[in-house]
Amino acid sequence: MSVTPRVLLSIDYEPVFALFRHYDSIRDLKTRRDMDGDFTLRALDPILAQLGDAKASIYLVGEIVQWYPQIPQKIISAGHELGLHCQYHRPLKNVDALAADLRDSSAWCKQYDVRGYRAPMVGISEDAYPLLDSFGFKYSSSIYAPAGTLLQKGNVWEIPVSTRSRRAPKPNYTAPRDFSFKLLFDGEFPYGSSFSIGLFAKKVLHILEDELKRGLSPVVIMHPYELVGPGRSARLTRDLLRNPLFVPFLRDKSAFLAALLRSFPVSPLGTYLDEVLAARENSHG
Ligand SMILES: [Zn+2]
Repeated sequence: MSVTPRVLLSIDYEPVFALFRHYDSIRDLKTRRDMDGDFTLRALDPILAQLGDAKASIYLVGEIVQWYPQIPQKIISAGHELGLHCQYHRPLKNVDALAADLRDSSAWCKQYDVRGYRAPMVGISEDAYPLLDSFGFKYSSSIYAPAGTLLQKGNVWEIPVSTRSRRAPKPNYTAPRDFSFKLLFDGEFPYGSSFSIGLFAKKVLHILEDELKRGLSPVVIMHPYELVGPGRSARLTRDLLRNPLFVPFLRDKSAFLAALLRSFPVSPLGTYLDEVLAARENSHG
C-alpha cells in the first residue's frame, strides 16, 4: 500500500445519554431530544473549530438529524466525511435490529450520499456486511483489530478501529471484535478507543507516532462530549455513579486532539480507502 501514512480520525457524533444503556428503551423523539438539551447542536461549531483545516470522518447518530436538520450539511460544508453511526444509539449486533435501524436512517443517508458505517459500541456481526452492502454502504469501521488491517467482507470493506497486538497481525479477523476482556487477555490494547485515550492519552500519542513510522494508518474514535463539555447535570452525575467505568469517556480530550493535529497528518477513513483502492488498481496494471 503506497499511500501516505496518516491518523484516520473519526468522531462518533452522539448525545451524552447514548453512553448509558438504561435509556435505550425510551423511544419518544421529544423526550430524547429534551435529554440531549441542544448539546449536539451547540457542540458542533466548537468541534469544527478545534479540527481547523484537518478533515475527519464524522459518524452521525440519525436522530440528531431529526432534532437539528442543519447538522449534516454543516459537517459536509466544512469538508468532513459524513457517515452513519446508527439512527438510535443502542447495541445493533443483531442483524434484524440493524436492518430496522438502517431502514430508519436510509432517507438522510441517501440524501447525503453516506458511504461509511460505524456500529454503536463497535459491535457488529459477520451477517451485517451483506446487509450494509444492500443499503449502499462501501465500508464499515466496526471491529477492533491491529492498525494496518483492511478486510474485504463481500462488497464492503472493513477498516477496523486500531489495536496494538503483541502477536503478528492475522490475514483475517471475524466479527464481532468489540472492546472486551477477551481482547485484552489476548494481548491486544485497543488504543483507538476513546476510553483508552481517556486513561492513557500520552501513551496513545506515542503509539500513533510509532505506527506512522511503520507506515501504518491507525484509526481513532472520539466523541463530541470529550471535546466540548456537556455541562454537569444531576442526571449525568447519577448516570456516572451507576456506571463509574464510563468516567474516562467524559474526560476532556481537546488537549489530546490538539496534540494529535499538531503532530500528525490526518484524513477521513473514506478518503484513505479511495487512495488505497486507487493505488492497488495502479499496481495491478
Ligand atoms: Zn457510539
